[in-house]
Amino acid sequence: MTEKRRALVAGGAGFLGLHVCRRLLAEGFQVVCLDNLQTGRMTNIVPLITDLKFSFVHADVRGDLPDGDFDEIWNLACPASPPHYQIDPVDTLLINVLGMKNLLDLAVRTGARIFQASTSEIYGDPEVHPQTESYRGAVNTIGPRACYDEGKRAAETLCFDYHRRHGVEIKVARIFNTYGPHMDPRDGRVVSNFIVSALKGEPLELYGGGTQTRSFCYVDDLIDGFFRLMRSDASITGPVNIGNPGEFTVRELADIVLEMTGSRSDIIDKPLPKDDPLQRKPDITLAGRLLGWSPKISLREGLSRCIPYFAGEVGIAFEDMRATGT
Ligand code: NAD
Ligand code: UDP
Repeated sequence: MTEKRRALVAGGAGFLGLHVCRRLLAEGFQVVCLDNLQTGRMTNIVPLITDLKFSFVHADVRGDLPDGDFDEIWNLACPASPPHYQIDPVDTLLINVLGMKNLLDLAVRTGARIFQASTSEIYGDPEVHPQTESYRGAVNTIGPRACYDEGKRAAETLCFDYHRRHGVEIKVARIFNTYGPHMDPRDGRVVSNFIVSALKGEPLELYGGGTQTRSFCYVDDLIDGFFRLMRSDASITGPVNIGNPGEFTVRELADIVLEMTGSRSDIIDKPLPKDDPLQRKPDITLAGRLLGWSPKISLREGLSRCIPYFAGEVGIAFEDMRATGT
């Protein structure tokens, strides 16, 4: 009989967490999804509930954690979108620090390997372009994004201190802006905002003129990178950048979304939020060398895969809309 492998996915009802749960279930894992539903959605996980290998615990990652041994712990528990993580900044910082410590203590007790969903926000508004893992970043420690950026930086520090002190097997991924099916249409990040506004015929709001750049990764590519990292040799700790190095201005993204949806929405200007990074592009040399990973899905291909998903979420028949040009 093969041994049952067990994984805890903190933040498993969110966008990326759901994709991780689904992949683990497909691999035969027993999956415990722990989430307080702050930004996650029951609609994401309802289809998994009938799977006997899946269970859901409605709880905060800083509180009591499920009993028993785990082979893998995945930490995705944290609001990821700037409007969401800035609602309660003190809480955002503490989720990152106390949640990470709680999960690392569990890893010590159970001998589990642990994955941390870190972020390109570690690099702040970067002076080095593209960003390599060795670049230490330029975060404004007193600005409105710092609750998230500094929380994630401290979480990385905790991972490496537990690794050195307790020998915990850590896997730290620095994720760049990722989009795809199962994002909340009200998430507030740029890809979902633009697609939803275009589909509804509402204006696309371009912050700060849209000359700032981002690199957008399709979720399937990202999840492939996650699993290659998590299953890599114990000596590979990260941090490793996982993102798509294709770089676009936010205005280019708006134009592509309007073209691909056939929408006649206007583009309107809004001020650039404070400390909004002016450029972002991952150097993925390390992921290629250590994990044999590189993204395969272009921005246009990824958008064509997820526009129908968002149309379904906002109740719009996408093909009808294209036909009538509404
Ligand atoms: P998301 O908001 O969809 O998912 C986060 C999940 O964590 C939600 O289900 C939320 O309810 C849960 N959560 C939040 N606080 C919690 C708490 N205290 N206890 C238990 N659960 C809690 O965001 P996402 O895009 O899926 O991001 C997942 C992880 O990846 C986050 O840690 C985020 O910082 C990181 N990340 C994501 C991106 C991206 O582009 N999607 C980029 C960089 C980093
Ligand atoms: N942005 C925008 N309009 C929106 C949402 C975001 O112009 O409706 C801009 C935002 O100012 C940033 C970029 O798009 O420069 C990416 O924002 P997002 O929230 O997706 O992620 P970030 O990389 O900033 O965390």
